[in-house]
Amino acid sequence: MEKPLKMGVLALQGNFREHAAVLRRLGAEPIEVRLPEHLDGLDGLIIPGGESTAIGRLMRLYGLDEAVREFGGPIFGTCAGMIVLDRDHLGLGDYTTRRNAFGRQVRSFEADLDVGDGDEPFRAVFIRAPWLEEPGADVEVLAEVDGHPVLAREGRLLVAAFHPELTDDTRIHERFLNIVREETRVGSTERDTGAKVPGLPAQGAEINVGA
Ligand code: GLN
Repeated sequence: MEKPLKMGVLALQGNFREHAAVLRRLGAEPIEVRLPEHLDGLDGLIIPGGESTAIGRLMRLYGLDEAVREFGGPIFGTCAGMIVLDRDHLGLGDYTTRRNAFGRQVRSFEADLDVGDGDEPFRAVFIRAPWLEEPGADVEVLAEVDGHPVLAREGRLLVAAFHPELTDDTRIHERFLNIVREETRVGSTERDTGAKVPGLPAQGAEINVGA
């Protein structure tokens, strides 16, 4: 039998338990990441939704900002996690985000997304959600709401503005696990040469996205 994938879930704040539950359902082994050394030996990492300001602060406090920048494996960022990965924060993704983009009044809503797999629409839950802006050339937009990108892939990164961990539909997590399988096949040798880090902020730059 195939060895279960060891999947880190950044467990500082937000919906990490829900992501862990989906991973377990899909046969992966979730590992809660609270310190840089917890990233050792992981096949992939999820940065959950929650509050991006809090997640950013705690990452800096525990040295996880640098550690995640250096983690060469696949990363899936949802909602606040998508913000944390962007050009203005960790600088791993070549895009910016507009926080609370759908308006502060519209705190949450659900939408049927065409996620491009030719299957049924994906019922997505948005909670004070961002959308993605100014995607670089390598960012492949996979789904939109009103013309705004809300699901995208850029190489080893997958980002979603919504919360796939809050519904029973596991297709987005499965898509991420497939990226992880692809990457582990291409080999750990490439991993060590370091990740592509467009727009990497200067050393010690603050991950601070305001309130
Ligand atoms: N609005 C939150 C932020 O900016 C993100 C919301 C979420 O993750 N559900 O951090």
